[in-house]
Amino acid sequence: MHYDIVIVGGGAGGLELAASLGRTLGRHSGQEKVLLIDRASFHIWKPTLHEVAAGTLDAHQEGLSYTTLARRNHFSFTLGELGGVDHQKRHITLAPVLDIQGQVLVPERHISYRWLVLAIGSGSNFFGTPGAEHAYVLEQTLDAERFHQRLLTAFVRTAFSEGKLLSLAIVGAGATGVELSAELIEAHQELTEGLSKEQRFRLDITIVEAAPRILAGLPEKISHQAQVALQRKQVKVLTSTRVQAIEADALVTDQGRIPADLIVWAAGIKAADSNERLGLTTNRSHQFVVDAQLRTSAEGIYAMGDCAACEWESGRLVPARAQAAHQQASYLKQVLLGLLKERPVSAPFQYRDFGSLVSLGENKGVGNLMGGLSGRNFFVEGLIAKWMYMSLHLNHHRAIIGTIDTMVLALVRLLQRRVSGRLKLH
Ligand SMILES: Cc1cc2nc3c(=O)[nH]c(=O)nc-3n(C[C@H](O)[C@H](O)[C@H](O)COP(=O)(O)OP(=O)(O)OC[C@H]3O[C@@H](n4cnc5c(N)ncnc54)[C@H](O)[C@@H]3O)c2cc1C
Repeated sequence: MHYDIVIVGGGAGGLELAASLGRTLGRHSGQEKVLLIDRASFHIWKPTLHEVAAGTLDAHQEGLSYTTLARRNHFSFTLGELGGVDHQKRHITLAPVLDIQGQVLVPERHISYRWLVLAIGSGSNFFGTPGAEHAYVLEQTLDAERFHQRLLTAFVRTAFSEGKLLSLAIVGAGATGVELSAELIEAHQELTEGLSKEQRFRLDITIVEAAPRILAGLPEKISHQAQVALQRKQVKVLTSTRVQAIEADALVTDQGRIPADLIVWAAGIKAADSNERLGLTTNRSHQFVVDAQLRTSAEGIYAMGDCAACEWESGRLVPARAQAAHQQASYLKQVLLGLLKERPVSAPFQYRDFGSLVSLGENKGVGNLMGGLSGRNFFVEGLIAKWMYMSLHLNHHRAIIGTIDTMVLALVRLLQRRVSGRLKLH
C-alpha cells in the first residue's frame, strides 16, 4: 500500500489535517494521495473526555466514525496502531489488529509514504508515583468510558449504603482536573434530584495540586475565579500538596492521607514510551523534537500536536493544547500541498496564543482572550466564557464536517439534552 501523505493519529490535529487536505485535493486525488490511520474506529474531540467520564456526554452519540469522515472529506482511512517506522525505505509498520479475545483480525502491515505526519497525541505522566494502577486517567475515550462505568457502580452502591458518602480524589488542578470536578458535581446533582430521599447521597471531591494555586499555567485572576467557583460547588481544593503514593482507597500526600473511593490522575502529560523506539530524536517527555517547520530528525517525517516538541518563545515549547494542534494542522496543510505541487513553503510555523478557556460546568466558564486589534488580554467569565468554550468544540466540528452539519448537530444535541437530560446512566 502506498500513499503520498500518511497521517498517523486522527485526533484534534491529525483529523483536521486529513480533512482539509482531502477537501482541497478533491474526491479522486484526495482519496488516492492522503491516508489517515488511527487505532480507534471513531473520533471524539479529546477536550470533551471529562464530560464522557462524568456521563454528561454520550461517547456513542458524540463519536464520528472515521470512514464516514473520510468519505465526506475525500481522504482514505485505515484502522491500525503504529508499530514502527523505517526511515530508509520510507514505510511504516502497523501492528496486528486484534479482536477482544486477542485473536489476530488483521496481520501486521507495511504502508509506504512520501511524507509522514505523526499526530499521535500524549498520555499521562505519573512522574514515577507508585500505585499508578489504582488511578483512572483520561487519555482516550475508552478510559473515560471505563471511569464512567465505575462511577455508575459507585453511585448505586453509595445510594444503598449506610454511610451515603462517595469520596473522589483528583490529582492535578490543571484544566482537566478542574473541568472534571465541576462536571462531576453537576452530574451528581442531576442524579440525586431524581432519587428518592432515602437514596440521596453526598459526593465529596478533593483536588490535590502540587503548585501553590490551581490552573497554575494560567493568569492568577483565572485561578482565583475558578477556585471560588469550585468552592461554591463544595469541591475541596488542596494546593501545595504533593502526592507521594496512590493506594487502592487513598492518596498518600506530604500533608497526610486522603481516603478516596475513586481516584483520577490528571496531573501531567507525557508522549508514548514507544515513541523512543521509532529512531527519531525525542525529548524527556518522549515527544518528537521538531524544527520550526515541524520536521523531525528524519527526512520526510513531520510531527504535530501533543506528540511534538516545537520551540515557541523564551525557550518554552508550544503548549500541548487543542488550539496548537489546530494551528499546526493549518500550517502543515500548506507545507504538504506545497510539496505535492513542488512549490515548497519555507515560512516557519508560528504559534499564536489566543488565550485559554476553562469550563466550570453547564453554564459557567472562565478564561482570558489574547490579541484582538489592541493586542490586549481580556478576562471573560460566566455564561459568555462557557459559550466561547463551546465554540471551540463547534469550530473543530466545522473543520471536519462543515458549517451546516455542525449547526444541525448542535441543534440536535440541544434538543436531545432538553428531552433526555444531561446525565447518561447507561
Ligand atoms: C479532559 C481534557 C480536557 C482538555 N481540555 C482542553 C481545552 O479546553 N483546550 C485545549 O486547548 N486543550 C485541551 N485539552 C488538550 C487537548 O485535548 C490536546 O492538546 C489535543 O487533543 C492534542 O491533539 P493531538 O491531535 O495532538 O492529539 P489527540 O487529540 O490526543 O489525538 C491523538 C490521536 O492519535 C491516535 N493514536 C494514538 N496513538 C496511536 C498509535 N500508536 N497509532 C495510531 N493511532 C494512535 C489516538 O487514537 C487519537 O485519535 C484537554 C485534554 C483533556 C484530556
